[in-house]
Amino acid sequence: MMNIPGFTGEAIAPGDAGYEEARRVWNGVIDRHPAVITRCHSAVDVAAAVGYARDHDLPIAVRGGGHGVAGSAVCEGGLVVDCSPMRDVQVDPGTRTIRAAAGCLWADVDRAGQQYGLAVPGGIVSHTGIAGLTLGGGIGWLMRKHGLTADNLLAAEIVTADGARLRCGAGEHGELLWALRGGGGNFGIVTAFEYRAHPVGPAVLAGPVIWPLDVAPRVLRFYRQWIREVPAELTTIVKLARAPALPAIPADLHGRPVVMISCCYAGPLAEGTRVLRPLRALGAPLVGLIAPRPYLENQALNDPTAPHGWCYYWKSAETGELSDDLIGALTEHTRRITSPRSYTLIFQLGGAVAEVGENATAYSHRHAAHNININAVWRPGDPDELQHREWARRLFAAIAPHQRGVYVNFLSDEGPERVRAAYGPEKFARLQAVKDAYDPQNAFALNQNIPPSPAEIRLQPMHE
Ligand SMILES: Cc1cc2nc3c(=O)[nH]c(=O)nc-3n(C[C@H](O)[C@H](O)[C@H](O)COP(=O)(O)OP(=O)(O)OC[C@H]3O[C@@H](n4cnc5c(N)ncnc54)[C@H](O)[C@@H]3O)c2cc1C
Repeated sequence: MMNIPGFTGEAIAPGDAGYEEARRVWNGVIDRHPAVITRCHSAVDVAAAVGYARDHDLPIAVRGGGHGVAGSAVCEGGLVVDCSPMRDVQVDPGTRTIRAAAGCLWADVDRAGQQYGLAVPGGIVSHTGIAGLTLGGGIGWLMRKHGLTADNLLAAEIVTADGARLRCGAGEHGELLWALRGGGGNFGIVTAFEYRAHPVGPAVLAGPVIWPLDVAPRVLRFYRQWIREVPAELTTIVKLARAPALPAIPADLHGRPVVMISCCYAGPLAEGTRVLRPLRALGAPLVGLIAPRPYLENQALNDPTAPHGWCYYWKSAETGELSDDLIGALTEHTRRITSPRSYTLIFQLGGAVAEVGENATAYSHRHAAHNININAVWRPGDPDELQHREWARRLFAAIAPHQRGVYVNFLSDEGPERVRAAYGPEKFARLQAVKDAYDPQNAFALNQNIPPSPAEIRLQPMHE
């Protein structure tokens, strides 16, 4: 066993028991062999692992929930700081705050919060890690009412590249907190997140309505008009796909090309029923499954559609309203889908997301109307992998003229220009200044990287 001074977790190297499992991430395409995986149980372990990597010149990958589609939570030959054993959650119902350790999944935070009728806006799959999702922004069912996950991040505890342990929050390292709200894992390793929580549930009015793909243009033109007026309590997500084999969906629809509009109304149920009436009245759906459901059930409803170990390739864009052109391209390419598991999600943005100032956080493009995420999905060993990837690339090319930006958490390994596009030039420069202050050597480079600015234009250090 490797000796890492001050480290009390498990350091797993090639050949050790558990190495094969520990190097696996959610995306089955990723097959990397780190020199060592440090399974950390505390901030002290994280600092010790960072010190060891520095002393041995090892590149550092950081793992929260392991869901990053690019697989940056593992590296070839370097050291993985694996926070996944850190799963403690503390809820303070008095202040409506939740403190969660960096290895938590959304299911952990959702469960703990609901014991007090509280929720932090998170993602739509409950086995996603809170760490990566929060640091990139965090879009999900509650965002239009209560903001992004990052908007609800009050404070964070972090280990920086020099091994220092800092807390950033109100009045402490304010610029660092600004950067953590959307700037990703570039500035250090967060060991705990402190969130504002909101009264939600126990039931929400939620679920999908499903129509045949043939009527998608009509459904989506109605949808475009309808969502202009809906209140922020309602968030919707459109899915274009073959109907997934979810227990909630009747078996005779599985595999049929469909357009689904999924809803979550996080407010009084009677009011939600009124708001959703026009959607439910829209002619001849195959099935309507909107019903009062426990908040926790809705958070896990999509879990089986994105299991660990399948293969994934994503292309994504933020857009304005769904124009006829966009609707046409989305429908047409869904007809040509090559894998029964592939799909496209269209998140409805707006509401509280757009009410926060564009420069208030690192998360960008707050006025985009939609976030479109094209997911090519196939099982390991599928001989048609290239076709599935090509399907996603072609659909992306068709919607690219409508693109206004991209969400950093939906980026694959797409190169530095796409990372810049996620922020725009001014914000990117501000993020670089934070990078200069907290990680000038780019120790945290295995991510959607914001490199330090070239030495000649570096600003004064802002380490407070
Ligand atoms: C099935 C699925 C559903 C998703 N749904 C949503 C959704 O609804 N909304 C949404 O906004 N996003 C969603 N995402 C995208 C998600 O936000 C990103 O994949 C995110 O990176 C996942 O975080 P993680 O901790 O699980 O990832 P990991 O792969 O563990 O980490 C990804 C990157 O985050 C950084 N990071 C992780 N932990 C830390 C840490 N402790 N300190 C500093 N940096 C860290 C590192 O740079 C790391 O490379 C989804 C992803 C998947 C796979």
